[in-house]
Amino acid sequence: MKSLPITIDSVRKAYGSYVALDDVSLDVRPGEFLTLLGPSGSGKTTLLMALAGFVRPDSGKFLLGDRDITRLAPNRRDIGIVFQNYALFPHMNVLANVEYPLALRKTPKAEARRRALEALARVKLEGLSERNIAALSGGQRQRVALARAIVFEPRVMLMDEPLSALDRNLRETMQYEIRRLHDDLGITTIYVTHDQREALTMSDRVAVMNSGRIQQIDTPQQIYDRPSTRFVAEFMGEANILAPGSVRTIDGGGASRETLMIRAESFHLDAKFVGQDGVALDGTLRAKAFRGENWLLTLAPDGGQEVLVCIPSAFAGDCAELAAGQRLTVYASAAKVHAIPGATA
Ligand code: ADP
Ligand code: MG
Repeated sequence: MKSLPITIDSVRKAYGSYVALDDVSLDVRPGEFLTLLGPSGSGKTTLLMALAGFVRPDSGKFLLGDRDITRLAPNRRDIGIVFQNYALFPHMNVLANVEYPLALRKTPKAEARRRALEALARVKLEGLSERNIAALSGGQRQRVALARAIVFEPRVMLMDEPLSALDRNLRETMQYEIRRLHDDLGITTIYVTHDQREALTMSDRVAVMNSGRIQQIDTPQQIYDRPSTRFVAEFMGEANILAPGSVRTIDGGGASRETLMIRAESFHLDAKFVGQDGVALDGTLRAKAFRGENWLLTLAPDGGQEVLVCIPSAFAGDCAELAAGQRLTVYASAAKVHAIPGATA
């Protein structure tokens, strides 16, 4: 089946005077896996609920392909959903849960059974079809929810924090499996999470939301390395925001007149890892902490805010020797120094 693009066009939703969605526009490409990433309360669920038809927007519209679905009932939108709180029916067994969307669409019984079993095989639950929901683990329940969402072959999938209740190891396995399922089926997917790493790992593109607006839509690497706002920079990891002129260039060229972002892990303790066009930052070491995979150093530059420096444990020898209070210079390649237009430190 051919994948469809999703168009979200100037969608606005207010609860009283509180604006949950502030003219959100977004184009999702056919077959794309796009993640909405943002802190709690940024409007992610509201946007998915509106797209699925459970929340009525004040203005704006939704298109699947060139079909305007803004006013359609939820079950006529051709959208599969896996919501965090969109619970399975506990009194029905696994098979009946997965058959349910087909029964709703009046699919003949034998065909519904065949397709439900097929969907269960896709999520690796063959053999559990007669099991009660109550007898399943959290991970198995999410697989049932996935099977139920794909069983009627929707053109679009929406997933709202489907893995947030699972522990970390299982979550990572399921991230991989959801992405693989997406690649097998080619369904245009919008996935919601507040977990940066999950968004970076799973997505073709990430849309970062804050306060009912999309701040940036880009590939995971662009979002991480080239954030367009200070909010995106800081939400995506350990970002140092440096005032103009607070770093020197190694080759003695002029210092930058822009606000810069340098990620904690972009720093090196040795200038040999950095080209002549790189930057250097001189200061006093305030603290060091061992975090397993890396060391976190806190550096107080001469006349500037504290800077976080993250050194991989592979270079641990360099860090073990360091003592708080000593002078330290750290270096970063020019490619890892990113100017944030319009930002102030
Ligand atoms: P997210 O999923 O990103 O955490 P939500 O879309 O759930 O954010 O919520 C966005 C904002 O809208 C929140 O401040 C929330 O309190 C508010 N909100 C959501 N649903 C309602 C509602 N039914 N009535 C009033 N306010 C709501
Ligand atoms: Mg939510």
